[in-house]
Amino acid sequence: MRFFIILLCFFLPLQSAFAAVDIALRGKEPVRLEDVYQQDGVPYIAIEDALDVVGLTGHWDSIRHSFLIKTKRGRAEISPASGFMKISGEYYPLQDKPRFIDGRLRVTDSFILNQLAQLTGQSIYFRNLDPATNSAPAKQSNNLEKLFSFLLNKKTTKNGSLIRAVAIDPGHGGLDTGVIAPSGYKEKQLNLEVAEKLAKQLKMKLGIPIYLSRDGDYELTMEQRLQSASKEDIDVWILLHAQAAFSAELRGVTLFIRAEEMTKNVSGENVVKPVKSGSLLLANNLALALRESAINVRGIYPSSRLSLGRGNLPTVQVELGFLSNPEELQQLQSSDYQNKIVKALYTGIRRYAKQSKEK
Ligand SMILES: [Zn+2]
Repeated sequence: MRFFIILLCFFLPLQSAFAAVDIALRGKEPVRLEDVYQQDGVPYIAIEDALDVVGLTGHWDSIRHSFLIKTKRGRAEISPASGFMKISGEYYPLQDKPRFIDGRLRVTDSFILNQLAQLTGQSIYFRNLDPATNSAPAKQSNNLEKLFSFLLNKKTTKNGSLIRAVAIDPGHGGLDTGVIAPSGYKEKQLNLEVAEKLAKQLKMKLGIPIYLSRDGDYELTMEQRLQSASKEDIDVWILLHAQAAFSAELRGVTLFIRAEEMTKNVSGENVVKPVKSGSLLLANNLALALRESAINVRGIYPSSRLSLGRGNLPTVQVELGFLSNPEELQQLQSSDYQNKIVKALYTGIRRYAKQSKEK
């Protein structure tokens, strides 16, 4: 055990790279934070520093072993052992667990852009001054190496079919419930229901194999999800999720593609890279088909998360809607609305397949 601890002490600083970030509430001067650790390409910012910038306060409670944040909505609680933030009795999933590094509890960019923005009720500007691409850690963890070994590449089809197979990943499952609605309805269930319906449509109408990463209520590792999308004949990968926000008003479908397949112009708007991106073409087709069915689409956004995999396999993460919006929650639970979304997704995929074949 002592050997292990010594080893850990040596390894932690080795695997981390120092970084700096700029954070600001919209319209305010950005504050530069330099006590930032970058691990596996993800910046970890001390929660107290981040709260300071956005005008919130909080403290570490050593008995509860959690960090308590004072907000207008009540006390928010995060803990290094938990992948959830608890607020007024409800649990909201976090993309990354908070971690103790160098004696301070730290959160990632995702926490600042999502949870912290919700806690303040304002959008937050965040810029990593040392993005992962320039300062890749010298030594990757084994786990990350495994994930990086899945390079999901677009294949060229030579036979007559438009696309050979589609992979669908219903997010979460088992103990990992995803977002939970105030009514108790869980994201994992919605994702699976929509995935199964979409699989059926695609199978029936395109007559091609459809691969589901899970067909029941069980947990998968990210490796298993990437594995399910790396079969030779897969030409399209769709990840299904749903969202929650503190504001009950937010609603609509949001589409995400790999960040490297999108770029920003000077004014900060997302623009299309001159390089032809299959994912962007697919996302555009999905957005158009959804809008034609009178479904509210919030937009197409870049995601720098590993869950979308690396490579150029046309991939879109579809956030089906907000379980925190009572009206949308009701729609999402109804089979009529689910069928409407599924039909639009199918139409988008079929049009994308036709367009990519014509090229
Ligand atoms: Zn999700």
